[in-house]
Amino acid sequence: MKKQEDLKKRVKEIIKILSKEISDSKIALRFSNPLELLIATILSAQCTDIKVNQVTVDLFKKYRLAKDFAESNLATLEEKIRPTGFYRNKAKSLQKCCQELIKRFRGEVPKTLEELVTLPGVGRKTANVILGNAFGIPGIVVDTHVQRLSRRIGLTKKEDPVKIEFDLMEIVPKEEWTHFSNLLVWHGRRTCVARKPLCVKCPIRKRCDYGSKLGT
Ligand code: SF4
Repeated sequence: MKKQEDLKKRVKEIIKILSKEISDSKIALRFSNPLELLIATILSAQCTDIKVNQVTVDLFKKYRLAKDFAESNLATLEEKIRPTGFYRNKAKSLQKCCQELIKRFRGEVPKTLEELVTLPGVGRKTANVILGNAFGIPGIVVDTHVQRLSRRIGLTKKEDPVKIEFDLMEIVPKEEWTHFSNLLVWHGRRTCVARKPLCVKCPIRKRCDYGSKLGT
């Protein structure tokens, strides 16, 4: 129990410190409505957000509604999203997902995790991205950065993203779930990078298990 209280305290401090460091912690994917964020998030699998944003500039001009994706010519859609990689599978996912949106949700993106994860191509990570960033409903997003950082910092020992999500839900205040995820993503991109974290420059080093074990 003491350990849990210590982790909660550490999380609060980390949020405070990183919020000062990272003034704009918004998600890097560009979107103007929940459907666009859903599409962009599906496209972002195994692809950088920068590349996805380049592709969606044109894509969202041609495909505006779920119906546009659902009724699209698959080969044309594949070509449009080709630079994001795995384009055949992604095109199928986009089409099937939007067909389901029309069939079951009148073409609208649903607002609950339970409904979102029933859509093709949508797992808990994508669902939480949508909830938090398009609807303002708190969700912890465990992507590769959040997975790596929460383990290094010592917030979890788990490896499975869903188990990490549940561990973080216990120690991060609910209203901060989305913000905290976004802060870790940005910190993971700039400082706590995968290969060689820049611990000497890290403002949360004293709150991090990995960083505090290093010498000065
Ligand atoms: S101290 Fe190092 S390992 Fe810990 S969060 Fe900072 S960069 Fe990452």
